[in-house]
This record gives sequence, C-alpha cells and structure tokens, in this order.
Amino acid sequence: MKAIRVHEFGGPEVLKLEDLDTPKPSAGEVLVRIHAAGVNPYDTYMRAGTYAVKPSLPYTPGSDGAGIVEAVGEGVAKVKPGDRVYTARTITGAYAQYALALEEQVHALPANIDFKQGAGIWVPYGTAYHALNHSARAHASETVLVHGASGGVGIAALQIARAMGLTVLGTAGTPKGLEIAKREGAHHVFDHLKSGYQEEILRATGSRGVDIILEMLANVNLFHDTRLLSTNGRVIVIGSRGEVTINPRELMGRRASIRGFTLWGITPEEEADIHAGLFAGLENGTLRPVVGKELPLAEAARAHKDILEPGSAGKIVLTC
Ligand code: NAP
Repeated sequence: MKAIRVHEFGGPEVLKLEDLDTPKPSAGEVLVRIHAAGVNPYDTYMRAGTYAVKPSLPYTPGSDGAGIVEAVGEGVAKVKPGDRVYTARTITGAYAQYALALEEQVHALPANIDFKQGAGIWVPYGTAYHALNHSARAHASETVLVHGASGGVGIAALQIARAMGLTVLGTAGTPKGLEIAKREGAHHVFDHLKSGYQEEILRATGSRGVDIILEMLANVNLFHDTRLLSTNGRVIVIGSRGEVTINPRELMGRRASIRGFTLWGITPEEEADIHAGLFAGLENGTLRPVVGKELPLAEAARAHKDILEPGSAGKIVLTC
C-alpha cells in the first residue's frame, strides 16, 4: 500500500510517500481501506516535533480517515467488511491507503456523507461538539462567537450551535470565508482582519456581550475576548500559537472565565456522547462537513503548508 511516512521531525518536506506492507488486523482491530484522510493543524505540529504528543519514528500521520472496512480481527462485532466508516484516531495512521484502528476508533459513516466529508469529522466536529456541549455547556438562549469560523472546527461549530438554537456570530479573514460562515450557520459575520471589528461584535449584541467565545487563535485575540464577554461569559481556548497578555479585571467584573480545551482529554462517556450526537446530526443533514480543497496523498506536504495559510474555506483532505 501507499502511505505517508515521517522518518524525522521537520518541515513539510519530511512527509514521504512510500510503499509499505498492508497491515493485518489482530484481535479487536479493524483494517480500513482509507479513501480520504483529513488534514488537521495538529498534524503539522506533530510532524514538526513541537506537539505535546511526540510519536516514535517513523510514523504515518493522521487520525481522521474515511473508507470501507476491509477486514476485522477476532472478536470485532461493531463493524464487518464492506461497512462504510470514519476513524477517530487510528493505530497506524490515516494518511495511507489502509489503516489499522481499534474497534472503538471506527464509527459508522451515514450513507449521505461521502468519504471526503467523512475525513473531516473527528477532530473538527468532535472538537466543536465537545467544546459547546461539555466544555462551555451551551444553552439555546445564549450567544456564541465562533472566533475563526471559516476553518474545520469553526464550520462545525457554526452548524452545531445553530442547530442547538444559539445566536451565532462568526469571524473569517476573507470574503470567501465570510460567505461560508454565513452560509453554514452564522447569524452575523465579522472580518477578523478589519480594524475595530470587535466594536461591531459588541454592537451586534446590543452591548451586552457574548456568552461564549470558541477561540481558534487565543494568542491574537484573548485580550479583546475578555472585553467582549457578557456576565458569566466564558472563552473556550481551542487554538493558540503563542503567548498573550490579558487584564484579569475584565474577567472579575463579569464573573467570566477562560477555559483551556483539549480533545485528547475526553472520557469514554464524553466520546460516546460525541459520536452519538455527530451521527444523528450527519444523518439528518444538520451537520454537513465542507471540503475546501482535496489533494492526492502524494501531495501531503503541500496540504501541510496550505493548512497553516490564511484564507480557510473548509477542510483540506487527501484522497488515497
Ligand atoms: P483551520 O481549518 O486551519 O482554520 C483556522 C481558522 O482560524 C480559520 O477560520 C481562520 O480564518 C482562523 N483565523 C485566522 N486568523 C484568525 C484571527 N486573527 N482570529 C480568529 N481566527 C483566525 O484550523 P481548525 O482545524 O479549524 O483549527 C483551528 C485551531 O484550533 C488550530 O490552531 C488547531 O490547532 C486548534 N485545534 C485545537 C484542538 C484542541 O484539542 N485543543 C482541536 C482542534 C483544533 P481565516 O483563514 O478566514 O483568516
């Protein structure tokens, strides 16, 4: 099989397309013929060797794949060969034509979701669902600002929050991103590159502030976020690429909070909740992963460059 391998941490050029033996599933494992793999920002941090989790080398990147079950190991009852599935983590890596996963890491892919969309489920939708439901404990009567609404997590958050009944505000940095944010569920959109856009956000809430901010770039935005919150507001820090200074007084007067977030910390109960919610939303059409760019597996290095560029417009996926 063809697979991307990383033999040393470094820039995108360390992603090499190689021929490997197709793995065989042991007891409790599932072999999936991957048709598409989702590219997430953390894949690039891991490849660079700067991520909290450092895989042992060599490794194949990717947690998010979608395809068809090829074979199952002894004792596997959840899926059978021929089933359409998406993966939420794998054992051997999703940037490959075949990936081994534990039985609990594969999930049924609804018939109306194609493989490229299926490759954009786990990290983006799992993050958005977990952030809104478990971390922020969002209620229908609240207002959420999706700060970075044009990318994988942001689009998922718009769709979920809108379906839950919240008033949804979203930001993007290009006209195309703003258009996508509006289309995918934002009641109001704002250009996060425009000077003074934070004032526009406050005005849109009647100066009350927002109850929840899902923050994709905290090092840039956290100072202003604390001033955009309502009483008891909370910022969920999903993404950050550096340090930032804030004034804690902005939080005190509002009894507001800033909460760190990691998808990797979820409990099995939370994960079961996430997949049940996502399956229902995908099946009934509420959740519609948006594929912005598809590239062949051989172009994984380009995908890793592109995902860190501004101008997001949905998911980048690799076709395998
Ligand atoms: P993505 O698809 O690359 O999207 C990045 C988003 O950030 C785009 O909407 C982009 O908007 C936006 N952005 C750029 N500049 C911004 C600014 N100044 N203010 C607000 N937003 C800005 O990435 P993703 O998959 O959505 O992930 C977003 C972030 O969350 C990444 O840093 C990722 O590593 C992190 N993340 C963390 C977890 C976790 O467990 N903690 C899980 C998933 C993701 P434009 O391109 O339109 O400017």
